Amino acid sequence: MSNAPRDASTSVSVMNEKLIFERSHPGLCAVSLPTTDVPPIDRSRAVPPELLADAPPPLPEVGELDLVRHYTRLAHRLFSVDGNFYPLGSCTMKYNPKVNEYAAGLPGLTALHPYQPVEDLQGILELLYETRVFLAEIAGLAEVTLQPCAGAHGEMAGVMIINAYHRSRGEDRVKILAPDTSHGTNPASCTMCGRQACTVKSRPDGRVDLDDLARQVDENTAALMITNPNTAGVFDPQIIEIARILHDHGALLYLDGANMNAILGIARPGDFGVDVMHFNVHKTFSTPHGCGGPGAGPVAVAEHLRRFLPSPQVIKNDDGSFDLRDDGPDSIGRVRSFIGQIGVLIRTYAYIRALGPEGLRQVSEKAVLSANYVASRLRGHYELPFDPPYAHEFIMVPQFRDKGVTELDVAKRLLDEGIHPPTMSWPVAHCLMIEPTDTESLATLDTFADAMIRIAEEAQTTPERLHHAPHTTPVRRLDEVQAARQPDLRWQPPAAPRQPSEAQSAAAERRET
Ligand SMILES: *Cc1c(COP(=O)(O)O)cnc(C)c1O
Repeated sequence: MSNAPRDASTSVSVMNEKLIFERSHPGLCAVSLPTTDVPPIDRSRAVPPELLADAPPPLPEVGELDLVRHYTRLAHRLFSVDGNFYPLGSCTMKYNPKVNEYAAGLPGLTALHPYQPVEDLQGILELLYETRVFLAEIAGLAEVTLQPCAGAHGEMAGVMIINAYHRSRGEDRVKILAPDTSHGTNPASCTMCGRQACTVKSRPDGRVDLDDLARQVDENTAALMITNPNTAGVFDPQIIEIARILHDHGALLYLDGANMNAILGIARPGDFGVDVMHFNVHKTFSTPHGCGGPGAGPVAVAEHLRRFLPSPQVIKNDDGSFDLRDDGPDSIGRVRSFIGQIGVLIRTYAYIRALGPEGLRQVSEKAVLSANYVASRLRGHYELPFDPPYAHEFIMVPQFRDKGVTELDVAKRLLDEGIHPPTMSWPVAHCLMIEPTDTESLATLDTFADAMIRIAEEAQTTPERLHHAPHTTPVRRLDEVQAARQPDLRWQPPAAPRQPSEAQSAAAERRET
């Protein structure tokens, strides 16, 4: 380190963090390896010459401590559940207990291999068996498959099961209905499975328009996919009637279970007429997720759909041992390799076991209370298009268009307050969808409500502060379309092959200019 040129930037704030390439100084290295005693070989004999580079890649050269600090500083630029309030509606960004990470990281679990014989896998199979039994109980349904590896993947498996069910009755029903508040993955899953997605209207109060449903459902309807409570934040109390309308036409009711955080231990989908549903266990049962991170989407089915479940299924033998059972003749087969997304399922198990039935019910009671509390604090400052009570999230619409202030401006201003923006413009145009979750303290909810009220006042008095927000983040307002279409990643490797040190001095030159 001592031979590094003086660099004032080592002490600058997170805001001005340079690229690692721009921190590079020839000769610095994060690890010192002893001189090798393996005799060198002629590399052109080991690798075909056309695959050999002319020069080593121009990688950055930095010392270990500078490397650690660079990435530590970058890590602190992020918004994360562990660092910030994260009311991203529909995503359930609640606190993920660290004990789950401990459980999922136990060496006895991480070192397992799916090709080990089942006698060696008894522990994990027992855990998975119990997980599927717990989920079936929470769903109020007959049996669960742990195979699907995301909510959307669960939807796809669910629609495959629905297709298999109708085919077993000699029918090929092509229409699947979904309310206009449904998540984009619902119609996508239908299309993936060769079904035709049709939209059912919602009433002004956010509930399903039963007349429109009755008009559309017919002998060609395979199912309705519904989210309840829905993404407008309201529980649809007509659900039993909705199930009856579908069943009268031989169609099935599919529940998108992404919002289970609102009804754990309070209502069971099987009890309100659902035939098949998925869980987003990474949301409801706490796995760090987002940005395409890991998930699992177990699917629960009623008795009449049990035989179509994917395989392999984790089962308990009469002698108390655990096993994997392969396809029955009606199974839709495998929807992924091996048993499922084990790491996420271990977290699910740990979460359910830590809380127990009473604890799970309290999760939902608190999630619902938190959403309704924040909504009541914001009423009068923002328009709330649907009437309370809300489920675990709610929608509000900023009404500052006369000041030129949009929902995007409000969302961006929240970043200055250290708060992750809510979901925007879905399922209602120009809205913000707020899901405080069950794990936030009253103080945090108040801090958020205070910030939102301050922003509403700012929209009236100094709207220009909002137009240019955020003001304090490392990166300010981006042109989002350009950022996606022409990402500027700044550092480009030199066109012609050069020695690393030349590349580095070129980077240094660019820094000067
Ligand atoms: C998150 C979500 C999904 C998709 O789930 P993934 O696990 O991200 O695939 C589907 N429907 C709703 C309502 C959701 O909120």
